[in-house]
Order: sequence, then structure tokens, then C-alpha cells
Amino acid sequence: MGKRLAIAMFVDACGWDVVSTRPWFMQSCFERRSVKSIFGFSSACVPSILTGRMPRDNDHWSSFYYSPTTSPFGPLKVLSHLPRALVDRGRVRRLLSKAIASAYGYTGYFQIYNLPFGALPLFDYAEKRDIFVPGGINRGTSIFDDLVGMGIAHHVADWRTGEAESFGSLGRSVREGTIRFAFMYTSKLDALMHEHTRDSALVDERLRWYESQMREVLREAYTRYDEVRVAVFSDHGMATVRRVVDLVPRVTRLSLRYGRDYAGVYDSTMMRFWFLGSGARERIVGALGDTGTGRWLETSDLSKLGVWWPDNRFGDAVFALEPGVLLNPSHMGTVPVAGMHGYRPDDPDSDAALLTDFAAVAHVEQITDLYGLMREMALWSSRG
Ligand SMILES: [Zn+2]
Repeated sequence: MGKRLAIAMFVDACGWDVVSTRPWFMQSCFERRSVKSIFGFSSACVPSILTGRMPRDNDHWSSFYYSPTTSPFGPLKVLSHLPRALVDRGRVRRLLSKAIASAYGYTGYFQIYNLPFGALPLFDYAEKRDIFVPGGINRGTSIFDDLVGMGIAHHVADWRTGEAESFGSLGRSVREGTIRFAFMYTSKLDALMHEHTRDSALVDERLRWYESQMREVLREAYTRYDEVRVAVFSDHGMATVRRVVDLVPRVTRLSLRYGRDYAGVYDSTMMRFWFLGSGARERIVGALGDTGTGRWLETSDLSKLGVWWPDNRFGDAVFALEPGVLLNPSHMGTVPVAGMHGYRPDDPDSDAALLTDFAAVAHVEQITDLYGLMREMALWSSRG
């Protein structure tokens, strides 16, 4: 047996509808299939892929969860007195997020987004640690713990470096010829499709660029390895936004007190509520129930989706918007986008994709199964 290399290329948001309409993309990957995603954003999907477990089993779902007693954000309350014109600026908030992350020693992907400073002390943040290194997962281990445990020399390129640099560093590692497994994460396609939708010519351009970069890496690989396997996969797809709705006023006009009667985090495709005072549940549920824009998910629905915790930390109830309906303004931002994901996983637009240039033995139906595929690839590479 010769020397082997396995490359796992994670292209964020490169869904089934993105690649099935572009059969030219990574043509050498002859096995092409659609893979069911899970209910949540990348903050949920990525850990699910890395661990092979649903959110309830790895404790990664949405970014913010209700926990006033453990919230590290108490001191930020003073910022709520700053003029809104200043603190609502995206750039200011990104700089603040960076400063907070460094002050608290967070190594994960940290963003306060558009959450009001007055509300932040009610919440804790789920992804404090870097999930792309061993020990990064809130509960249990990930493929990165496994690779270390199995003693497999590997290379990881995460979201921190630019994509050209990621391909560059992967190329250098391959040229050295000592690694057996490579993991590469790219997020530019996701950002591009949020802005331009999945039908944009810019998407074709980006995919062609990924492919040309990968071809360079593979050319190096074939001179140093006897056998090479490539898997390209994603965490979810991208739906085109057809309708923008402003639902928050329906809640605020109930004159319930935020933080006393209820708490809420308004993501772009779901509104999560915690009911703190009597009567809040009935009134909020009633206020959104007849809008025709989404549906309430209760305990049994959340449980089926793998996103229910006994302490309801991520919400007592979740109002999930219909695929293609965007909440704006939300705590994610105030500028509507053209493409969005984070809708229920049974919608075809949510489907992720898997492309491989080998006949995969692992059974891959849902993105959690990609973990098993990566393990299989790593083991295969180490046997060479
Ligand atoms: Zn995204």
C-alpha cells in the first residue's frame, strides 16, 4: 500500500440546490448527493458536523441562551446609555465584539450582532471556545480530538485566515508530504449568497475559483502521495428571500416588560422566547400566531429536531419563520439580505451536499453523518 492523503473541504452554504444546478463543479467527485441539514444556523450545523451529534447532545445551537446568573455581559449594560446612532453601527459592533472576545479570552467565533446592550446581561454565549481545535466542543469531543487521539498527522484551515491563504497553507502542508488528513473550512460562498442569492454569476465565479485552487493542491498531492481522496461538503443550503417581515413591534406593543415578563432573541429566521411573568406566553403566542409568516414550535417539535434542552435554555418556545421569509429588523441586523438559511430542515432549500471522488462507505443522510465520513477518511489515510 502506498502513502495516502484525505482532504475534507467544507464549503459553507454550498447546498444541494447550489451544486445540483452546477454539475461542472468538482466534476472529479463522481458521487454527488443531497444531505439533510439540521434546524439552526452555522453555529449549530458546524458543531454537528464536527461531532456527529445533534445540538442537544453537543450543547451548540444558537449563539445566545437565557442565563442571567452566568451571563458575562453585565458590565456591558452601561453601554446602553450611549447614543443609538453610534452603537447601532455595524462596524462599531464588530469592533466591540472583538474587544469583548479578547477581554473575556474567547477563542470561538464571537459576535454581539445587533443585540441591545441592555438585553445582553440576560444571556450567555454558546461558542466561547474555538471549535476547530481539540477540546473546543461544549459537551463531548469532535473530529479534531479524534485526529489527535488516533495520532494522525493533519492540517486544519479554519475561518480565521482568508481563503487564498487557507489554500496556500494547505498547499504548503501537502508539499511537505507529512500530513495524512486535511480539513479546510471556507465561508466566503455563504457571505456571497446572503448578498446575491444562489443564482448569482458570482457564485459560479467563486466555485470555479475553489476548483482551480483545489486543482493546484491536488497536483502537489499526486506528486507526493500514492492515493488521494477528496470530499467536498456543506452544512446547509441557501433560500432566496421572498418576503421581509417586521414582527418585533407585535411583541413590543403588548406592553410586557422585556427582562421581567419575557426575554427574546430575534434571529433572522426564528424568534426565541422565554416567558418569565404570568400571561406572557399566551399574549406573545397570540400576537404572532395569526401572522401567516411562521409557526410555533413547542417542546415536542423542538425535541424531534434535536434542539430541546430540559432547562429550555435556548427558549421556552420558538417561532420559526416559513422558508424564504426574513425577519428584519432582527437582533442579527437591520439591513435585509437576499439569501438566508436557518429554516426548517425539511425544506429542500435547506439541503446540504456531499461530493466525493471515491465510493464512500459511510452512510451519509444527514450532516451529522459527515463526522463518520471524516473519521472513515482519516482511518483510510492512516492505513496507507
Ligand atoms: Zn450564512
